[in-house]
Amino acid sequence: MAQILWFSQLAESLAERQAAHLYRFRRVLTSAQGPQVELAGQKLCNFCSNDYLGLANHPQLIAAAQAGAARWGVGSGASHLVAGHFAVEQQLEERLAAWANKPAAITLSTGYMANLAVITGLMSRGDAIFADKLNHASLNDAMVLSRADVKRFAHGDLPALARQLAASKAARKMIVVDAVFSMDGDIAPLAEMLKLAEQYDALLYVDDAHGFGVLGNGRGTLAELGLSSPRIIYMATLGKAAGVAGAYIAAEQVVIDYLINTAKPYIYTTAAPPLIAAAMHASLDLIAQDVARRVRLQQHIAYFRQRLAGACTLLPSKTAIQPIILPSSEIAVQVSAALFAAGFWVAAIRPPTVITPRLRVVLSAAHTHEEVAALCEQLLRILAALPAVDSTPTTDSDGIDLSEID
Ligand SMILES: *Cc1c(COP(=O)(O)O)cnc(C)c1O
Repeated sequence: MAQILWFSQLAESLAERQAAHLYRFRRVLTSAQGPQVELAGQKLCNFCSNDYLGLANHPQLIAAAQAGAARWGVGSGASHLVAGHFAVEQQLEERLAAWANKPAAITLSTGYMANLAVITGLMSRGDAIFADKLNHASLNDAMVLSRADVKRFAHGDLPALARQLAASKAARKMIVVDAVFSMDGDIAPLAEMLKLAEQYDALLYVDDAHGFGVLGNGRGTLAELGLSSPRIIYMATLGKAAGVAGAYIAAEQVVIDYLINTAKPYIYTTAAPPLIAAAMHASLDLIAQDVARRVRLQQHIAYFRQRLAGACTLLPSKTAIQPIILPSSEIAVQVSAALFAAGFWVAAIRPPTVITPRLRVVLSAAHTHEEVAALCEQLLRILAALPAVDSTPTTDSDGIDLSEID
């Protein structure tokens, strides 16, 4: 058979990635998710997962999922609009709406799809979107797919956002932002953004993938900042702190009704298994009741930052996401590998996910103090052995190239 040129080009491109220390591969877990995991027999202390509260393998969630499977079966059988919307899901949506202090909510199979649903469901040609440059890749993809006019502003640059809003002639405007930035861990200036949304008659779409369950006593970043407005459309994912899967959108009833009628990632997909909603009920119970988990997480964050201060470039993050900026992808991979050899699993995050290579340390309430302290010891040892280099934290991230529509 003749060689397919296209495939040789793919192989070449992968070889280039490898040479640039950008090649990605998957590690296979031979245990459940948790602070201690096993990879092909090797035990590691895990500082990679977004299981911030340690609920992914919690006995109450496992029991709820099992009972959910016994009561509702496994497959949902159809999309929500056809024959796949179950009472356990309807009840969950009502609870999640109340949890976010909103009149209505819908759940979707993933956060990625929720972002596509809101942005492509509400925005189209002639509308205008204003987005932070460090927003999650799924928001970027959604903006392109919506065909709206997209303006991106530098990370947290409120004056630039105000200028872009003032210059826009679009009748419908939406500000789109991560509440907690997934690779930097900082919190968006949502109060100021809401003021601008009011001033320019825009909506504010907030992706709270990393705030839900953690900030605002578990209610998320809006509660943390004391914000509430019908102009805010709220999205949170349920596969991170909640330890389950999926996402939800909470907003005014008319917005939710409109999305149910128009959002393709909601309409043209089989609904998630109802046992997911059953597990999510148990997760929400724990998020509401188990305050000690959030307290423990905050203690880990404070200790980690205090222990590493001065020894490396940390970012101004008060959340579980604690990046350490490193001078190159090569060094990021080296440090990650050295930690791995010492029994600690910490992801090296590199372009194109971020512009500035880094270690992304993720702390969880499930870690013990001893585990966090041991990680800090190893990090200090490994970082001290690196050649001294300037690693100024200028960050930008993409996932996709939006340059042509900027
Ligand atoms: C993880 C994440 C998503 C995607 O959510 P999934 O449920 O994993 O698809 C969306 N936005 C942000 C900011 C995220 O970190």
